[in-house]
Amino acid sequence: MQLLRLTAVSLILTGCLIINTVFSEDNERNPHQIALSFDDAPWGEGFMFSGPERTVRLIEKLEKAKVSQVVFFCVTEKLPYHDGHARLKKYAAAGHLIGNHSHSHNRPGDFGTASYIADIEQAHDSLKQYSTFMPWYRYPMLDEGLTIPVRDSIREALNSLGYSNGYVTVDTWDSYIDKKCRDAPKSGQRIDTVALGRIYVETLWEAIQFYDNMALDLLGYSPKHVLLLHENDLAALFIDELVGFLRQQGWEIISPAEAYSDSIGERVPDVLYSNQGRVAAIAVEQGYEGPLRHSSENAGYIDSLFQANQVLYER
Ligand SMILES: [Zn+2]
Repeated sequence: MQLLRLTAVSLILTGCLIINTVFSEDNERNPHQIALSFDDAPWGEGFMFSGPERTVRLIEKLEKAKVSQVVFFCVTEKLPYHDGHARLKKYAAAGHLIGNHSHSHNRPGDFGTASYIADIEQAHDSLKQYSTFMPWYRYPMLDEGLTIPVRDSIREALNSLGYSNGYVTVDTWDSYIDKKCRDAPKSGQRIDTVALGRIYVETLWEAIQFYDNMALDLLGYSPKHVLLLHENDLAALFIDELVGFLRQQGWEIISPAEAYSDSIGERVPDVLYSNQGRVAAIAVEQGYEGPLRHSSENAGYIDSLFQANQVLYER
Protein backbone atom coordinates (compact mmCIF):
# COMPACT_ATOMS: atom_id res chain seq x y z
CA MET A 1 0.00 0.00 0.00
CA GLN A 2 2.79 2.31 1.11
CA LEU A 3 4.74 1.40 -2.02
CA LEU A 4 1.67 2.02 -4.18
CA ARG A 5 1.15 5.40 -2.59
CA LEU A 6 4.80 6.29 -3.09
CA THR A 7 4.66 5.18 -6.71
CA ALA A 8 1.51 7.23 -7.23
CA VAL A 9 3.17 10.28 -5.63
CA SER A 10 6.31 9.89 -7.70
CA LEU A 11 4.23 9.43 -10.86
CA ILE A 12 2.41 12.65 -10.09
CA LEU A 13 5.69 14.42 -9.35
CA THR A 14 7.28 13.08 -12.53
CA GLY A 15 4.19 14.18 -14.45
CA CYS A 16 4.47 17.68 -12.96
CA LEU A 17 8.15 17.75 -13.78
CA ILE A 18 7.50 16.75 -17.38
CA ILE A 19 4.74 19.35 -17.72
CA ASN A 20 6.99 21.97 -16.10
CA THR A 21 9.90 21.10 -18.36
CA VAL A 22 7.72 21.22 -21.48
CA PHE A 23 6.21 24.49 -20.28
CA SER A 24 9.54 26.16 -19.54
CA GLU A 25 11.14 24.84 -22.75
CA ASP A 26 8.14 26.15 -24.65
CA ASN A 27 8.45 29.48 -22.84
CA GLU A 28 12.15 29.64 -23.60
CA ARG A 29 11.58 28.87 -27.25
CA ASN A 30 8.47 30.94 -27.47
CA PRO A 31 8.34 33.71 -24.87
CA HIS A 32 5.62 36.31 -24.98
CA GLN A 33 7.25 39.60 -25.78
CA ILE A 34 5.93 42.99 -26.78
CA ALA A 35 7.26 46.47 -27.53
CA LEU A 36 5.31 49.67 -26.92
CA SER A 37 4.74 52.26 -29.65
CA PHE A 38 2.93 55.58 -29.26
CA ASP A 39 1.46 57.34 -32.30
CA ASP A 40 0.54 60.97 -32.99
CA ALA A 41 3.14 62.63 -30.73
CA PRO A 42 3.33 65.49 -29.86
CA TRP A 43 -0.42 65.41 -29.10
CA GLY A 44 -2.03 68.63 -27.81
CA GLU A 45 -4.30 69.28 -24.85
CA GLY A 46 -5.81 66.14 -23.27
CA PHE A 47 -8.73 65.54 -20.90
CA MET A 48 -6.36 65.60 -17.93
CA PHE A 49 -2.98 67.03 -18.95
CA SER A 50 -1.50 69.65 -21.21
CA GLY A 51 0.88 68.28 -23.85
CA PRO A 52 4.04 69.26 -21.90
CA GLU A 53 2.64 67.83 -18.63
CA ARG A 54 1.82 64.57 -20.38
CA THR A 55 5.35 64.17 -21.70
CA VAL A 56 6.91 64.64 -18.26
CA ARG A 57 4.45 62.23 -16.69
CA LEU A 58 4.79 59.58 -19.39
CA ILE A 59 8.59 59.60 -19.13
CA GLU A 60 8.33 59.27 -15.34
CA LYS A 61 5.83 56.42 -15.54
CA LEU A 62 7.94 54.49 -18.06
CA GLU A 63 11.01 54.96 -15.91
CA LYS A 64 9.17 53.82 -12.79
CA ALA A 65 7.86 50.78 -14.65
CA LYS A 66 11.44 50.02 -15.78
CA VAL A 67 10.59 50.22 -19.47
CA SER A 68 13.83 51.51 -20.88
CA GLN A 69 12.77 52.13 -24.45
CA VAL A 70 9.61 52.76 -26.44
CA VAL A 71 9.06 54.51 -29.77
CA PHE A 72 7.07 57.65 -30.48
CA PHE A 73 5.79 57.95 -34.04
CA CYS A 74 5.57 61.67 -34.63
CA VAL A 75 3.41 63.94 -36.77
CA THR A 76 5.60 66.92 -37.56
CA GLU A 77 2.91 69.49 -38.34
CA LYS A 78 2.27 69.43 -34.58
CA LEU A 79 5.86 70.35 -33.71
CA PRO A 80 5.34 74.14 -33.47
CA TYR A 81 2.50 73.74 -30.95
CA HIS A 82 2.25 72.65 -27.31
CA ASP A 83 6.04 72.72 -26.92
CA GLY A 84 6.23 69.94 -29.49
CA HIS A 85 9.93 70.24 -30.34
CA ALA A 86 11.04 70.44 -26.68
CA ARG A 87 8.90 67.41 -25.84
CA LEU A 88 10.44 65.23 -28.55
CA LYS A 89 13.85 66.29 -27.27
CA LYS A 90 12.78 65.13 -23.80
CA TYR A 91 11.64 61.75 -25.11
CA ALA A 92 14.94 61.36 -26.95
CA ALA A 93 16.98 62.46 -23.89
CA ALA A 94 15.16 59.76 -21.87
CA GLY A 95 16.37 57.17 -24.42
CA HIS A 96 13.09 56.70 -26.28
CA LEU A 97 13.05 56.45 -30.05
CA ILE A 98 11.57 58.90 -32.52
CA GLY A 99 9.93 57.54 -35.69
CA ASN A 100 8.13 59.10 -38.65
CA HIS A 101 4.31 59.20 -38.74
CA SER A 102 4.17 61.74 -41.64
CA HIS A 103 3.93 65.52 -41.61
CA SER A 104 0.17 65.92 -41.87
CA HIS A 105 -1.33 62.51 -41.05
CA ASN A 106 -3.16 61.72 -44.28
CA ARG A 107 -4.05 58.57 -46.14
CA PRO A 108 -2.29 57.77 -49.44
CA GLY A 109 -5.56 58.36 -51.31
CA ASP A 110 -6.16 61.85 -49.88
CA PHE A 111 -3.93 64.04 -52.08
CA GLY A 112 -2.25 61.72 -54.56
CA THR A 113 0.85 59.59 -54.22
CA ALA A 114 3.46 62.25 -55.04
CA SER A 115 2.12 64.60 -52.33
CA TYR A 116 1.91 61.72 -49.89
CA ILE A 117 5.57 60.86 -50.45
CA ALA A 118 6.58 64.54 -50.20
CA ASP A 119 4.77 64.64 -46.86
CA ILE A 120 6.86 61.72 -45.57
CA GLU A 121 10.05 63.45 -46.75
CA GLN A 122 9.03 66.70 -45.08
CA ALA A 123 8.54 64.84 -41.78
CA HIS A 124 11.91 63.12 -42.27
CA ASP A 125 13.67 66.48 -42.65
CA SER A 126 12.21 67.65 -39.32
CA LEU A 127 12.77 64.42 -37.39
CA LYS A 128 16.32 63.47 -38.39
CA GLN A 129 17.70 66.10 -35.95
CA TYR A 130 16.61 64.12 -32.87
CA SER A 131 19.36 62.03 -31.31
CA THR A 132 17.31 58.82 -31.17
CA PHE A 133 15.64 59.19 -34.57
CA MET A 134 15.01 55.88 -36.35
CA PRO A 135 14.12 55.61 -40.06
CA TRP A 136 10.87 53.79 -39.37
CA TYR A 137 7.60 54.86 -40.96
CA ARG A 138 4.26 54.26 -39.25
CA TYR A 139 1.51 54.71 -41.85
CA PRO A 140 -1.29 56.97 -40.55
CA MET A 141 -4.37 54.83 -39.93
CA LEU A 142 -2.05 51.94 -40.97
CA ASP A 143 -3.27 52.66 -44.52
CA GLU A 144 -0.62 51.61 -47.06
CA GLY A 145 -2.71 52.46 -50.13
CA LEU A 146 -5.75 51.09 -51.89
CA THR A 147 -4.09 49.98 -55.12
CA ILE A 148 -0.93 48.01 -55.83
CA PRO A 149 0.78 50.80 -57.86
CA VAL A 150 0.16 53.33 -55.06
CA ARG A 151 1.29 50.92 -52.34
CA ASP A 152 4.43 49.98 -54.27
CA SER A 153 5.37 53.58 -55.13
CA ILE A 154 5.26 54.50 -51.45
CA ARG A 155 7.28 51.41 -50.52
CA GLU A 156 9.88 52.31 -53.14
CA ALA A 157 10.12 55.88 -51.84
CA LEU A 158 10.54 54.60 -48.28
CA ASN A 159 13.26 52.20 -49.44
CA SER A 160 15.21 54.92 -51.18
CA LEU A 161 14.96 57.05 -48.04
CA GLY A 162 16.44 54.12 -46.10
CA TYR A 163 13.25 53.47 -44.17
CA SER A 164 11.55 50.33 -42.96
CA ASN A 165 7.89 49.87 -42.09
CA GLY A 166 7.11 50.68 -38.46
CA TYR A 167 4.35 48.08 -38.52
CA VAL A 168 2.21 46.95 -35.61
CA THR A 169 1.18 43.40 -34.83
CA VAL A 170 -1.52 44.37 -32.31
CA ASP A 171 -4.05 46.93 -33.47
CA THR A 172 -6.08 48.68 -30.75
CA TRP A 173 -8.56 51.52 -30.39
CA ASP A 174 -7.32 53.43 -27.35
CA SER A 175 -8.06 56.65 -29.23
CA TYR A 176 -11.81 55.97 -29.03
CA ILE A 177 -11.58 55.58 -25.23
CA ASP A 178 -9.55 58.79 -25.10
CA LYS A 179 -12.10 60.64 -27.23
CA LYS A 180 -14.95 59.58 -24.95
CA CYS A 181 -13.02 61.08 -22.02
CA ARG A 182 -12.31 64.30 -23.91
CA ASP A 183 -16.02 64.59 -24.77
CA ALA A 184 -17.22 63.89 -21.20
CA PRO A 185 -17.03 67.47 -19.84
CA LYS A 186 -19.11 68.73 -22.79
CA SER A 187 -22.05 66.68 -21.49
CA GLY A 188 -21.33 67.55 -17.86
CA GLN A 189 -19.82 64.17 -17.00
CA ARG A 190 -16.93 63.33 -14.70
CA ILE A 191 -14.47 60.47 -15.05
CA ASP A 192 -13.88 57.65 -12.55
CA THR A 193 -10.17 57.19 -13.26
CA VAL A 194 -9.93 53.86 -11.40
CA ALA A 195 -12.64 52.35 -13.60
CA LEU A 196 -11.07 53.99 -16.66
CA GLY A 197 -7.69 52.39 -15.92
CA ARG A 198 -9.40 49.04 -15.58
CA ILE A 199 -11.01 49.16 -19.03
CA TYR A 200 -7.87 50.62 -20.66
CA VAL A 201 -5.85 47.62 -19.49
CA GLU A 202 -8.67 45.16 -20.16
CA THR A 203 -9.33 46.20 -23.77
CA LEU A 204 -5.62 46.30 -24.62
CA TRP A 205 -5.10 42.87 -23.06
CA GLU A 206 -8.00 41.49 -25.11
CA ALA A 207 -6.48 42.87 -28.31
CA ILE A 208 -3.03 41.47 -27.44
CA GLN A 209 -4.41 37.99 -26.78
CA PHE A 210 -6.56 38.15 -29.91
CA TYR A 211 -3.65 38.90 -32.26
CA ASP A 212 -1.27 36.60 -30.39
CA ASN A 213 -3.67 33.68 -30.79
CA MET A 214 -4.13 34.54 -34.46
CA ALA A 215 -0.32 34.61 -34.89
CA LEU A 216 0.02 31.25 -33.14
CA ASP A 217 -2.56 29.79 -35.53
CA LEU A 218 -0.95 31.28 -38.63
CA LEU A 219 2.77 31.19 -37.85
CA GLY A 220 3.01 28.48 -35.22
CA TYR A 221 4.83 30.78 -32.81
CA SER A 222 4.26 33.94 -30.81
CA PRO A 223 6.14 36.72 -32.62
CA LYS A 224 7.82 39.62 -30.89
CA HIS A 225 4.85 41.96 -30.91
CA VAL A 226 4.50 45.70 -31.47
CA LEU A 227 1.56 47.26 -29.63
CA LEU A 228 -0.21 50.29 -31.10
CA LEU A 229 -0.90 52.98 -28.51
CA HIS A 230 -1.21 56.74 -28.74
CA GLU A 231 0.62 59.49 -26.90
CA ASN A 232 -2.54 60.42 -25.02
CA ASP A 233 -3.56 61.02 -21.40
CA LEU A 234 -4.59 57.37 -21.02
CA ALA A 235 -0.97 56.35 -21.60
CA ALA A 236 0.28 59.01 -19.17
CA LEU A 237 -2.19 57.79 -16.53
CA PHE A 238 -2.07 54.02 -16.93
CA ILE A 239 1.00 52.82 -18.83
CA ASP A 240 2.55 51.50 -15.59
CA GLU A 241 -0.66 49.58 -14.82
CA LEU A 242 -0.62 48.04 -18.28
CA VAL A 243 3.05 47.06 -18.02
CA GLY A 244 2.55 45.59 -14.53
CA PHE A 245 -0.44 43.59 -15.72
CA LEU A 246 1.37 42.24 -18.79
CA ARG A 247 4.31 41.14 -16.67
CA GLN A 248 1.93 39.38 -14.28
CA GLN A 249 0.63 37.44 -17.29
CA GLY A 250 4.20 36.36 -18.09
CA TRP A 251 4.86 38.88 -20.85
CA GLU A 252 8.14 40.70 -21.28
CA ILE A 253 8.40 44.30 -22.47
CA ILE A 254 11.11 44.54 -25.11
CA SER A 255 12.66 47.39 -27.06
CA PRO A 256 11.11 48.33 -30.41
CA ALA A 257 14.34 47.42 -32.25
CA GLU A 258 14.20 43.94 -30.77
CA ALA A 259 10.56 43.57 -31.78
CA TYR A 260 11.36 44.66 -35.35
CA SER A 261 14.08 41.99 -35.54
CA ASP A 262 11.41 39.26 -35.58
CA SER A 263 11.10 37.38 -38.86
CA ILE A 264 7.51 38.61 -39.14
CA GLY A 265 9.15 41.91 -40.15
CA GLU A 266 10.29 40.30 -43.41
CA ARG A 267 7.01 38.57 -43.90
CA VAL A 268 5.35 41.26 -46.03
CA PRO A 269 2.05 39.89 -47.31
CA ASP A 270 1.08 40.76 -50.86
CA VAL A 271 -2.41 42.01 -49.98
CA LEU A 272 -4.12 45.39 -49.90
CA TYR A 273 -5.23 44.94 -46.34
CA SER A 274 -3.01 46.74 -43.89
CA ASN A 275 -5.18 48.68 -41.47
CA GLN A 276 -5.34 45.97 -38.81
CA GLY A 277 -1.61 45.39 -38.65
CA ARG A 278 0.84 42.76 -39.85
CA VAL A 279 -0.72 39.64 -38.30
CA ALA A 280 -4.15 40.41 -39.76
CA ALA A 281 -2.58 41.09 -43.18
CA ILE A 282 -0.88 37.67 -43.10
CA ALA A 283 -4.25 36.20 -42.11
CA VAL A 284 -5.89 37.70 -45.20
CA GLU A 285 -3.10 36.42 -47.42
CA GLN A 286 -3.55 32.92 -46.01
CA GLY A 287 -7.34 32.95 -46.43
CA TYR A 288 -7.91 32.84 -42.65
CA GLU A 289 -11.61 32.61 -42.00
CA GLY A 290 -11.84 33.91 -38.43
CA PRO A 291 -12.52 37.54 -37.45
CA LEU A 292 -9.67 39.98 -38.17
CA ARG A 293 -10.61 42.49 -35.55
CA HIS A 294 -11.49 42.09 -31.89
CA SER A 295 -14.67 43.55 -30.33
CA SER A 296 -12.46 45.89 -28.28
CA GLU A 297 -12.13 47.88 -31.52
CA ASN A 298 -15.91 48.37 -31.80
CA ALA A 299 -17.61 51.50 -30.48
CA GLY A 300 -20.65 49.61 -29.12
CA TYR A 301 -18.44 47.23 -27.15
CA ILE A 302 -16.42 50.05 -25.59
CA ASP A 303 -19.59 52.08 -24.89
CA SER A 304 -21.07 49.16 -22.97
CA LEU A 305 -17.84 48.66 -21.00
CA PHE A 306 -18.01 52.35 -20.05
CA GLN A 307 -21.57 51.85 -18.86
CA ALA A 308 -21.01 48.58 -17.01
CA ASN A 309 -18.00 50.07 -15.18
CA GLN A 310 -19.65 53.47 -14.67
CA VAL A 311 -16.55 55.17 -16.02
CA LEU A 312 -18.48 58.40 -16.65
CA TYR A 313 -20.93 59.82 -14.14
CA GLU A 314 -22.99 62.99 -13.78
CA ARG A 315 -21.50 65.79 -11.75
ZN1 LIG B 1 -1.88 58.34 -36.21
